Amino acid sequence: KINRSTVIKAYMELKAEGLVESRVGSGTVVLAPFSKDGIQEKMYVPPLRWNQLESRRVNKSNEQTINNILSVFEKEKVISFASGVASEDSYDMELLQSIQTRLLEKHREKVLMPTPVDGCSELKHTIRSYLQQNGINAGTKQIMVTSGSQQAVEFLARLLIEPGDVVLVEEPTYIGAIQAFESYDARLIGIPMDEEGIRLDILETCLVKYRPKLIYTQPTFHNPTGMTMSLNRRKELLKLAYYYNIPILEDNPYEELYYEGEKLPSLKSLDNNDYVIYVSSFSKTISFSLRVGYVVAGENIINRFIKFKQITDIQTNTLSQYFVHEFVAHGYLKNHLEKIRNKYRKKRDLMIAQLNKCNVEGMRIFVPGGGYFIWLELPNNIRMNELIKLLGDKGIIVMPGDVFYPKYNIESNFIRLNFSYPKEQDIEDGIEKLLDCIVKCSNS
Ligand code: PMP
Repeated sequence: KINRSTVIKAYMELKAEGLVESRVGSGTVVLAPFSKDGIQEKMYVPPLRWNQLESRRVNKSNEQTINNILSVFEKEKVISFASGVASEDSYDMELLQSIQTRLLEKHREKVLMPTPVDGCSELKHTIRSYLQQNGINAGTKQIMVTSGSQQAVEFLARLLIEPGDVVLVEEPTYIGAIQAFESYDARLIGIPMDEEGIRLDILETCLVKYRPKLIYTQPTFHNPTGMTMSLNRRKELLKLAYYYNIPILEDNPYEELYYEGEKLPSLKSLDNNDYVIYVSSFSKTISFSLRVGYVVAGENIINRFIKFKQITDIQTNTLSQYFVHEFVAHGYLKNHLEKIRNKYRKKRDLMIAQLNKCNVEGMRIFVPGGGYFIWLELPNNIRMNELIKLLGDKGIIVMPGDVFYPKYNIESNFIRLNFSYPKEQDIEDGIEKLLDCIVKCSNS
């Protein structure tokens, strides 16, 4: 029988000589001695336990809905109603080429060089005057160019959220915002909407009950429902924010894509008290792939964001920034918007007409006044997994509604259909097949 302390002593001696090593979670392992020539070939290399190395701060969800949608663009022969991008054929390729050539020929010294972290001054001035035309008065120090507006949403989550902090959001809401807030372990509380937008009676109850850090809202052509908040509701929402002293994040990438009526003023343009942080993007109006978005906020917040951006990606792609600047400052955006409004209006109407071709009981179409999406309520008894599978077999993808709810904690009988990207023929064929599948999956 060997004495316990003898064993411990032996281990300590082996350790002191560098022959064994103790590792948390894997016990004591024998190490091969190092030779003069370095590491020996047959040395035992214990496997790395990455999951034990990961920081506790990192949210452990591997949810990849956005990646799954974007990966589709590398595949062929699918009809995608799931994405949120412009259609390929909406561009004047000659114009794009001439802008690119001009930038490379005439402004080489700029476009191949770094820009300030918060964006090149040309683009910031252009954004500033564009905002001014829309009733938002901001100095260039209150504007920051970001790599898509997604980055600005993430920065605000990073700045404000401690685990357990409450963020009030419309329910349903944009998946990228849900993920940004949840990655800092925010508690998202969903507020239902009616035809005028977020329900203020419920919002107020939650403001009192939860004392949230932030209200996140998309007042115009909301993703995924396409709904728009009325002017009166906008004003009342601001009053509530002021009364309860809670900031608002206004996410507004679809504002220019209206298909009828007049534009409503943004919350930011109605706010004289710096309560609204405003984010928008050129992803929906020019192209997603440029990754150019921006945020308007108080200088103190922009300064914090500059620090975050230094750490994250240093600056937004220079060529993209100048591309957007040229496109907007030379007035091309205005014409382009007119063109895509007509194009997307037609596609929206075509999709609605197709959906109306078959009268499915319990199906309800939310017709948007603008933006990219139709929100479709399906019969209550729909077997959603089966529907998604059946559609997949036919090469059709749609967004199931549950991804737009915090924590995915509901069984949703909604799907979101994008009409900007698919070709008209694909809308005709795809919606016909979709209706077939819906009928099959709801007849139990
Ligand atoms: N907010 C909303 C409401 C969106 O729909 C999107 C794009 N799907 C974004 C933000 C992010 O857009 P981007 O980063 O491309 O500007």
